[in-house]
Amino acid sequence: MKDKKAQKKHKTNTPKYIFVTGGVLSGVGKGITAASIGAIMKAKGYKVSIQKCDPYLNVDAGLLNPVEHGECFVTHDGKETDLDLGHYERFLDFETNKYSSVLSGALYQELIEKERSGGFHGKTVQMVPHFTDLVQEKIAAAGRGSDIHIVEIGGTVGDYEGLSFIEAIRLFANRVGRENCLYIHVVYVPWINTSKELKTKPAQNALKDLRGFGIIPDVVVCRTERPAPRAVCEKIASFSGISSDAVLNLPDIGSVYDVPFNVLKSGVLEILNKFMQDDSEPNMKKWQEFSDKRSRKYNQTVKVALIAKYVGNEDAYICVTEALKAAAVWNEVNLEIDWLNAEDLGDNDELLDAYDGIVVPGGFGERGAAGKIQAAKYALEHDKSYLGLCLGLQMACVAAAQIGGVKDAGSEEFGASESAHNNVIYIMDGQAGKESTGGTMRLGDYPAKLKKQSKVAKIYGEEKVTERHRHRYEVNQKFLPEIEAGGLIVSGTSPNGKLVEFVESPRCKFFVATQAHPEFKSRPLNAHPLFSAFIRSLK
Ligand code: GLN
Repeated sequence: MKDKKAQKKHKTNTPKYIFVTGGVLSGVGKGITAASIGAIMKAKGYKVSIQKCDPYLNVDAGLLNPVEHGECFVTHDGKETDLDLGHYERFLDFETNKYSSVLSGALYQELIEKERSGGFHGKTVQMVPHFTDLVQEKIAAAGRGSDIHIVEIGGTVGDYEGLSFIEAIRLFANRVGRENCLYIHVVYVPWINTSKELKTKPAQNALKDLRGFGIIPDVVVCRTERPAPRAVCEKIASFSGISSDAVLNLPDIGSVYDVPFNVLKSGVLEILNKFMQDDSEPNMKKWQEFSDKRSRKYNQTVKVALIAKYVGNEDAYICVTEALKAAAVWNEVNLEIDWLNAEDLGDNDELLDAYDGIVVPGGFGERGAAGKIQAAKYALEHDKSYLGLCLGLQMACVAAAQIGGVKDAGSEEFGASESAHNNVIYIMDGQAGKESTGGTMRLGDYPAKLKKQSKVAKIYGEEKVTERHRHRYEVNQKFLPEIEAGGLIVSGTSPNGKLVEFVESPRCKFFVATQAHPEFKSRPLNAHPLFSAFIRSLK
């Protein structure tokens, strides 16, 4: 074992950069590979940051449909991004920021605004150099202060709309020196069942494409369904002029959280070590502990009903399900999550009898709202564990107000109003008229002060907490007497007391809801206290 002090870590003002691109197909785990490499480098003691560049013309992910694209993630500084940033935060246990997600739409918007205000002083504005320079500036800004900065380019190399990103990362090596850049190309190698062989041709072509854009990768990761014979990697190496030590296989594995171990086995570490001139071992102890606990079968199984609107795509609530799973692992129970379509619940709340606990996650619009209110009512009346997240708090307050006497209580988001005296949830100051616009909700970190001795204060172990938000509506405090009569008390507010941030039931074993999205801050190696307490209450 080497003397730790003798290891000279790369700790300077200029980070080393790792660029991760994809070939053949998208959706074969490029993001998880990038995040796993980040996790390994972090476990070697480096400060690692990571960023995703996506060639969509959207400005951010806020208006994308969760059924198609999965959950919208929110950074601490209030940017709405795609769910890859959630993976990054979970794998690296750090907070991404508004620079961590770069979409073409936002870059075009910035360039056009500059052009309109005369910022280009009469010059023509072009993809090269103006767009490609801007991509490079965003990369430099996101990596500032890190030892290693990882950049994942969305889509596959050769996609028409992504070409300028590939050009930008090629140019980036001129800016910081090729020796400070490591290019990793992740390619898919398909298994053809009729001929019973792995076909390398698509990967060879993908590498040819990348070479055509002037990038010769330092590492080629071959993604396969099953472990590939070494000869497959060697064939790809010989046909594409890359050293065979640099062509590595990453076969599918049961859980994404085992990918870091797969990466370690693959030989990538040796290349990373050379790149960093540091052959210290990563400390994977906590990852190993998590992996061991996760793969164990326990005597006890807890059953959770997730009352969802988007049942077609599990990625629509990925941070919530990952937070529940992490909490179950550290609480040493097996977890079963059933997705109940909020629209099917209606008056059938006996469906909920079969569950130990209920989660009502965030959501928008009227569809399914009645079922969510019903679920909260059921939990209050049957002392069933309930965890409400954002809309889950709003629907809990509506349910309590209905029990407490406002029979037609509702939210202004779906029809309740001041004049009908039933708007238990109403629109926040300054939000009216912005309902369908992007980037205008109350977004990102906001602090809350918790009531002394409340359940939430005990769970967090402190009275001042900060969580991320994404909402337009809030609790109308005029209805607090009815909400209380229905069984819920306010246990946390914004520091000035204006916004309700937490409610809880003093009667139920566990009934806690928050206007925030604590799931964004939960980590596999460090489950969020609210999720942990919820799972604990089911044991
Ligand atoms: N639709 C609700 C609001 O805008 C809740 C949002 C959410 O659950 N993220 O306030």
